Amino acid sequence: MVMEYSPAIPLLRPLVTLDNRGFWDAIKQHKLVFQKCKDCGLLIHRPRPMCPRCNSQEMEWAPSTGRGRIYTWVNFVYANAAYPGIKIPYLVVVVEMEEGVRILSNMYDAKREDIYIGMPVEVVFDDIADDLTLPKFKRREA
Ligand SMILES: [Zn+2]
Repeated sequence: MVMEYSPAIPLLRPLVTLDNRGFWDAIKQHKLVFQKCKDCGLLIHRPRPMCPRCNSQEMEWAPSTGRGRIYTWVNFVYANAAYPGIKIPYLVVVVEMEEGVRILSNMYDAKREDIYIGMPVEVVFDDIADDLTLPKFKRREA
């Protein structure tokens, strides 16, 4: 099932900062990118001001294949524990991308019974509002 949002509750927006602006700008254009250290080549997610390996502050944005596998997941079924404005149930996943970084996201169109750790997935872009696009994941053929 596709995630549903309650119109009665204003959706929260990502906190866009100098460090993650490139990520969110790409998402708006339906592209997935990850921060890459210009000095040592490390791919980094979530975006941050300094490379955790070499302390460089020289960063660029590297395109992702958009493909990965479910590293872990949880199914939210209790309204008190769920994110405000999202109708339960919904799936939260950590996806290990082909590039090696992990990203926290949601399944776009899946039920609990459909997913498993290691399942191949690919990114999709959910245009939720004029000013809100979120990267989510759907099953793909391996
Ligand atoms: Zn580095």
